[in-house]
Amino acid sequence: MTLERIALMVVGAHAGDAENMAGAIAAKYGHSGHNVFLVHMTLGERGNPKIPMEEYAKQKRRESERAATLLRATPVWLTYRDGEIPGGPEPRRTVAELIRRHRPDIVITHWRRSMHRDHSLASVATEEAVLDAALKEMGSSYAPHAVKALYFAENWEDTPGFEPELLIDVSDHIDIWKDALESYEFARGLSGFNYLEYYTCLMRLHGLRSGVKYAEALMREEHSRQIAADYIPLKINFL
Ligand SMILES: [Zn+2]
Repeated sequence: MTLERIALMVVGAHAGDAENMAGAIAAKYGHSGHNVFLVHMTLGERGNPKIPMEEYAKQKRRESERAATLLRATPVWLTYRDGEIPGGPEPRRTVAELIRRHRPDIVITHWRRSMHRDHSLASVATEEAVLDAALKEMGSSYAPHAVKALYFAENWEDTPGFEPELLIDVSDHIDIWKDALESYEFARGLSGFNYLEYYTCLMRLHGLRSGVKYAEALMREEHSRQIAADYIPLKINFL
């Protein structure tokens, strides 16, 4: 069966989050000819103790560009500052406008319960934006757009209450994901947390659970379960 060409959007709080939590899925879609957008709400410019924030922001932008090229995705940078994603309607409107513009079939973002405030706010803003994007908005130059499925991805900082529910076979794209993640200095050991090994082990674990080599986990929101169950564009193993 040939899959229709679809659009996937991954929304992360900091440049690198989208690649950490759904980068292998992005590679799978991107390298299969689908449209993939990686949205970075901030550059995550506070994360390097060795260089000034402005300098690290430029570095993170270059790193995210390289990662997107390797994943065959289009990077989209929002202009929020690291640690300062606001609550309230503003980020929701901004993400809704991006959804109307790029018209993703699937949106993936952080699980809302996180040790990191930016991650929680990105999650809430994206979930609300998916609903808002389907409504007519005064002042928008784009038509309303209904996203078919919203998923939450697995991130080591967003673990409370996260339940792996859908497992996507990413065995053929794990090496592309590794190359892409290594674009980032943080993934090469800057913070002391071994991102590459952590996510590789996680995907191997999910692979073992689902009978493939590597799999990436997603979770659906309660109210989106019906629609997500009806819209399964790639081979997914349900837990
Ligand atoms: Zn982050």
